Amino acid sequence: MNLPSRCVQIDPFLGRYYTDRSAESIAEEVAAHGFNGVQLVITRDSRLPTALLHALRQRKIHVDYATFCNGTYDTHDLPEGWREWRMVTRLPVQDGYTRLCLNHPGYRYWKKKQITQVLRSHPFDGVHLMEPFWPEYPGPNAPAYACLCKRCRALFEERYSEPPPEFGEEASPRFWRRQPELYMKWVEFRVQSHLEFLQELIHGEGGIRQVHPRVAVAVWILAVEAPNPVRLVREVHGQDVAEVARQVRPDAICLQTHWPDWMKEALPPDYVRAYQPFVQAARAVRPNLPIMIQADIGSQPQNRRSWQWIHAFREACRRVGSRGSTLYEYSLGMYMYTEPPRVLRTERIERSGVLLVFSKRLNAQSAREKSHYAFHPPLQVQRVEVDGNLVRLHTDPMHAALRYRLTVRNVEDDPSVRWLPETPALTLQEQTVTL
Ligand SMILES: [Zn+2]
Repeated sequence: MNLPSRCVQIDPFLGRYYTDRSAESIAEEVAAHGFNGVQLVITRDSRLPTALLHALRQRKIHVDYATFCNGTYDTHDLPEGWREWRMVTRLPVQDGYTRLCLNHPGYRYWKKKQITQVLRSHPFDGVHLMEPFWPEYPGPNAPAYACLCKRCRALFEERYSEPPPEFGEEASPRFWRRQPELYMKWVEFRVQSHLEFLQELIHGEGGIRQVHPRVAVAVWILAVEAPNPVRLVREVHGQDVAEVARQVRPDAICLQTHWPDWMKEALPPDYVRAYQPFVQAARAVRPNLPIMIQADIGSQPQNRRSWQWIHAFREACRRVGSRGSTLYEYSLGMYMYTEPPRVLRTERIERSGVLLVFSKRLNAQSAREKSHYAFHPPLQVQRVEVDGNLVRLHTDPMHAALRYRLTVRNVEDDPSVRWLPETPALTLQEQTVTL
């Protein structure tokens, strides 16, 4: 399967960067930066950005439906009775994410149906099953360690003829640390149910393969730098990368950089060398399995990454045998805070129009100012239209046979739409392009 190598995640409802501009302008911006794949992060299936999906595909960009698997950031679409599906964490956790139990048959059925319906109604090239892991790092001490719901307990007892270990009461004789054998059964139980969940979505009755055999399926597996990282992720998150490759047989595996790694301020772009064991484990059972790696480029102020970092990261991914990479999330990168806007592409439109594709979203007021555009040979600018990162200049008629030079000056970007808005505007001092 031909999978794109330079991907980026776009969450159209994250912050304000994608609001009040056309889908075309977003797609042009993504394309101008050389991305050939987008994972469209859909937190609510009922408000899928159809226009953006079409605009991206029109520009020959591969688009995946990217959906969270072990819960949701948005409960709007969940049906009556969904509260029964909630995971039970070791301690109550309220962090804006609703965790849903992979072992609940109602949730499995609904999630499977939801995915196949989205793929039926929209022309996605693939689907990314994001974050199907069991929470949470670094293990049973984490407040969000899960799932300890009634159903998980009963299922465990059915399989092993004894209740699962105790994770709350340290004094209990069944406390997980005192019962290494029992704890190992619990670890196996989580690995198996993670596999069963994915099997059901992909290969189950009415699942993705049956309904959409041509759609490429990528499964996300956590990766982290640690002494024995494959075993650690298996134990803590129930994700066995080799068994997922062997039993679930996705079209690709996406290794997701885990938070202990991506949060680091000074994370070197070649940190993915530590992920080699995951690549090896998957390739040991599926030698040609496409693998990509996902990096976080700015969820927190200290981990915002530059284009230079991203280029080095991609190169490092290639060296560990990864087919491609993706980035969370386009609008969060450091370049939004440090790089003045630049013209990346120009297009003459008929006799009296010019389209300028800028590297980022502009301050519309600044970009609308006619005096910021000077043609040589001289040409009068009649009108300027601004749409996100796009500027359309309406000019006096141009000579078809003549090349024009256009100098753009003093065009500002728009800090108010950045994730961290209290940051100064950046100005394109001067750039000359030939038309
Ligand atoms: Zn459960």
